Amino acid sequence: MAFGSLREGKSKRIQSVKITPLAVPDMPLLNCKGVHQKVFLRSLIEVTTEGGLVGLGETYGSRRTLLGLQRSADALVGLDPLHLHDLRHRVVEALPEGGGVNAPTAVADHQLTDVVTSAFEVACMDLQGKILGRPVSDLLGGKVRERVAFSAYLFFKFAKQYDADRPDRWGEVLTPDAMVGEARTLVEENGFKSLKLKAGHLEPALEIETMLKLRETFPGAPLRIDPNGGWTVETAIRIGQTLDGVLEYMEDPVLGMDAMAEVASAVSMPLATNMVVIEFEHLEEAIKKNAVQVVLSDHHYWGGLRGSSHLARACQALGLGLSMHSNSHLGISLAAMTHLAAATPNLTYDCDTHYPWIETDIIEGGKMQFQDGTLTPPAGPGLGVALDRTAVDRLHQLYLETGIDDRDDTATMRRYIPDYERRVPRW
Ligand SMILES: [Mg+2]
Repeated sequence: MAFGSLREGKSKRIQSVKITPLAVPDMPLLNCKGVHQKVFLRSLIEVTTEGGLVGLGETYGSRRTLLGLQRSADALVGLDPLHLHDLRHRVVEALPEGGGVNAPTAVADHQLTDVVTSAFEVACMDLQGKILGRPVSDLLGGKVRERVAFSAYLFFKFAKQYDADRPDRWGEVLTPDAMVGEARTLVEENGFKSLKLKAGHLEPALEIETMLKLRETFPGAPLRIDPNGGWTVETAIRIGQTLDGVLEYMEDPVLGMDAMAEVASAVSMPLATNMVVIEFEHLEEAIKKNAVQVVLSDHHYWGGLRGSSHLARACQALGLGLSMHSNSHLGISLAAMTHLAAATPNLTYDCDTHYPWIETDIIEGGKMQFQDGTLTPPAGPGLGVALDRTAVDRLHQLYLETGIDDRDDTATMRRYIPDYERRVPRW
């Protein structure tokens, strides 16, 4: 056993691992394959050492991820939380068949071993910080910026969840003008300086009109559009050419590396992705085909915080831009994202986050507040966040009550539009 000797090391070794599935109330946000369910799922990870230190992590909560976390949790007992190579080795051994984690209706898939390793890595990094008395950003090389900028993440949306009595506070957003209203509120409340539209839902002419109205309303603000592969190559090229000079980048306009390369060769703005480059092994093809110019990192599947630092260095060497991706998440993930972003020199784009769309958090002190669209990494040690146990219990109870254990935006869409068909690309 190559790593056997490490398991005998004298340090604050891991004694137990607790995984708690959570359901978090969500908004009916639209995308190219349907609409968000009434809750999104997360897994809370608590890793306890012999000395009683607790490291926190947060990741996806859908069925395959949760099962992967549960099946590999016992393999972490005895691990030195500083030995991250050993961590990966143990996870790979515990999940020999690997496979992907995403639901069949998803438009990209992630390796289970990457996702599980990443989730435990963050908890180990939190522990490392607590052992050393230093914030996670210091473990990643130290802060290169005091404040981390985030972008406003705009979604078309229904007025209310299908079984709710009344509209949510955002109401219906299904037109360009309503989207400008949503953007104004997000910017007023959080101070965001850049905006990203989740596209692929409305017909392209309306999404183009939306971007032009956002440009008019927020002159000078970097703008992005992301239809998650919801367009054909022809449509994407037309939109890219129409929005020449308007967009900072166009994100995953089409599905697949070859289609991305075709679009990239025909439009002026960079193409960004969190769909065709999601593993280190994808970088070579992307470069050879000049299919993408900006990679969105995400510590939930790039091997955790250190893996994301390695991605950043690789992007720098390859001449690729670097941005940061987000799924629906809570404050542990946000703290991890902020530490990482603060310690990543070539992260020059504002980070994505779904955080403004949640109403409650599971961290002590409640939701973090953006100042001028930015956050400072919590002071630490480690991630610098602690659990609000009452909030954790409430969201775990909700998980048990709703009975939702997987994500399916397409099935949820059929509760609003019974004959809705998933078509990617649609336009
Ligand atoms: Mg994206």
